[in-house]
Amino acid sequence: MIITRTKKMEKILSSLEGTSSVYLFGCNACAEQCRTGGKAELDEMATLLKDSGFDVPGISLVDETCYNQLVKKEFRLKKSIRKSDAIVVLACGAGVKIVAENSDRAQLVIPALDTLFLASVDRHGRFFEGCSLCGECVLGETAGICPHTQCPKVLLNGPCGGAAEGMCEVNPECECAWLRIYNKLKEQGRLHLLKKISPPKDHSGSIQPRKVLLR
Ligand code: SF4
Ligand code: SF4
Repeated sequence: MIITRTKKMEKILSSLEGTSSVYLFGCNACAEQCRTGGKAELDEMATLLKDSGFDVPGISLVDETCYNQLVKKEFRLKKSIRKSDAIVVLACGAGVKIVAENSDRAQLVIPALDTLFLASVDRHGRFFEGCSLCGECVLGETAGICPHTQCPKVLLNGPCGGAAEGMCEVNPECECAWLRIYNKLKEQGRLHLLKKISPPKDHSGSIQPRKVLLR
């Protein structure tokens, strides 16, 4: 991705007002593949910031910015991180959170990206939204196709009846998720599942903040 002086960049610069040194964090996993937070984008961001009068004392490209131990190690090894007024993070929100937790209280931590979804990766650089993290998975009854994520109306009992030639009435670029579910269940000989009325989800399963502590 070519970073230009877009609205987002203007927002980042405005958030950096009053600071003079800005450290950069990228992510060598998803953000690198999305071309939003790999080496090329970090270099580009560094140039843009320098052109805007900021000092950029360093750049970190960790394997996974959402992994606390890797970010913590970076803070330990690179003293210039803590000496910077601000840190701009070219990673998803989970990465920004980890960097912010490791930063000093007085340091600004600014997200450079807008995180859109949790992806299933087809292959390098090809992402598809797979799961909306609802906390109550129904994929076992919907042939592995998530109505919560792939039906724009989030229908648990579909289809809505608006599909035209198999395409979704809300997003005509996508096949109707419920038609796909029907076809797949038919292939599996499990069409009886469509007769079952699914009750509304119990959203207590998705209460934030979530944590999973295995140790
Ligand atoms: S039903 Fe919920 S947990 Fe399962 S894939 Fe869809 S959003 Fe994710
Ligand atoms: S056409 Fe299909 S995918 Fe689109 S809103 Fe209706 S049920 Fe959902």
